[in-house]
Amino acid sequence: MSYRFLKSIRARIALWHLCTLAATLLLYMMINLAFLWQEELSELKDSLLDDLQLAENFFGLTDGKQLVWRGDERDLMQDGNQRWIELRNLHQGLIYSNFPDERIHSALPSPTRKPREHLFRSFRLSDGEALLVVQSIHQIHGQWVEIIVGRSRDRMSNVLGQLLMIQALGFPIVIVFAWIGSFFFAGRILSPLKTIIDQTKTISADMLHKRLPVENPDDELGQLSMTFNDLLGKLDRSFKQMRQFTADASHELRTPLAAIRAVGEMALRSPRNVEACQETIGSMLEEVDKLNRLLNDLLSLARSDSGMVEPVFELMDLGTVVQDEAALLKVLAEEKNQHLLMEIEQPCQLKLDRSIFRQAVSNLLHNAIKYTPEGKEIHITVGKTDEGCLLEITDSGPGIDAEHAALVFDRFYRVDKVRSRNTGGFGLGLAIAKWAVEIHGGRIELHSKPGGGCTFRVCLPRAKQPIGIPNA
Ligand code: ADP
Repeated sequence: MSYRFLKSIRARIALWHLCTLAATLLLYMMINLAFLWQEELSELKDSLLDDLQLAENFFGLTDGKQLVWRGDERDLMQDGNQRWIELRNLHQGLIYSNFPDERIHSALPSPTRKPREHLFRSFRLSDGEALLVVQSIHQIHGQWVEIIVGRSRDRMSNVLGQLLMIQALGFPIVIVFAWIGSFFFAGRILSPLKTIIDQTKTISADMLHKRLPVENPDDELGQLSMTFNDLLGKLDRSFKQMRQFTADASHELRTPLAAIRAVGEMALRSPRNVEACQETIGSMLEEVDKLNRLLNDLLSLARSDSGMVEPVFELMDLGTVVQDEAALLKVLAEEKNQHLLMEIEQPCQLKLDRSIFRQAVSNLLHNAIKYTPEGKEIHITVGKTDEGCLLEITDSGPGIDAEHAALVFDRFYRVDKVRSRNTGGFGLGLAIAKWAVEIHGGRIELHSKPGGGCTFRVCLPRAKQPIGIPNA
């Protein structure tokens, strides 16, 4: 059996099964033989004890009080089995013996004049026949006698030998059949695996919508297929998101580039004075600014996707971080005569990566200022909850319909594409804010009524150290 063959699971299952079966079978055979040997031996011993009793009847007493043999030779044969008997008077010596070998007596312990346990011994005759003999010492007619009886062990050996031969012949046959059966059934059990392998080979990056067949969802192979299908589903979604992201990013990059090109071409076509040139360069720079912002956002998201960002958490006061960010954006709010009202209900300390978390606050505040009409209010509240700290930014803008609410955190999602683009948005701000909150182990929620403004609620765990780096 080559090493290559053993590499196949089918062969290994069959082999393991076979080894287990062979070991169990051998153990069973040994127990069987030992049991039979024990049975035969005890049967032989019982027969010898019967012979001992019979032998006692063979003693006779002469008038001179001498023990003599009074047995009948015919009684020494039973069902074709020879009974071997030796009778001795401890005082006078041998009375009778039909043992074919005189050495038996000398091979046994010398008799003493007191009763003792029967002594069983095995003895091999010169012709090779094995005997089991028993020696007994007791008193008959008031005289100490030694009785030795024996029977051949050959019948017992024959029975055991026959059983051993049957088992030795049957064993390889059973093993061959078991190997064929094991190999066949292992093949049948593993046949869905072959289908899984064949089907998996046909799945390429552009066929991630394909799924493996699940024959039996309750067995291990069914579960393997389901797990693999699950993985395919996730890969499919990721690939689609990636393609969508690339398409959206290219589209967004094209718009400012096309604007720069159009403005440049127009300036080249018509003769210009210094003022007109300055205006052209000004609008070109505006588009370059937009491009810059877009590239920064894309870079943030790409870094978050790659898991390259390693946040450095430091204990700080949430209110202070939000206050600093609001101070930076105050100018924008003032340009629109908006009132940026901040309330710290309860100071709340927690571990933050300042540069990441300020992206969330900045994007939320930017949106609030962007979508709140002139002269209206924006409320910023910092407080505590059971689980940690809370930040709420409530604006007086148009709000977001429920149908869009679940999607605004998706990349490049904009409720009103035209209006959003005019205000310089790419639909990436909330996606980045969500990532920045989740990297702190927190969550971001949107509560909004159309026409009633938006409230973005950020909940951050205080005690728990953030785990994992989520994707925006
Ligand atoms: P953008 O940069 O285009 O604003 P965002 O990801 O920040 O992208 O927001 C996604 C969309 O959600 C926006 O296009 C806008 O339609 C909507 N939105 C976000 N914030 C607000 C808000 N405070 N009020 C109303 N609509 C909002």
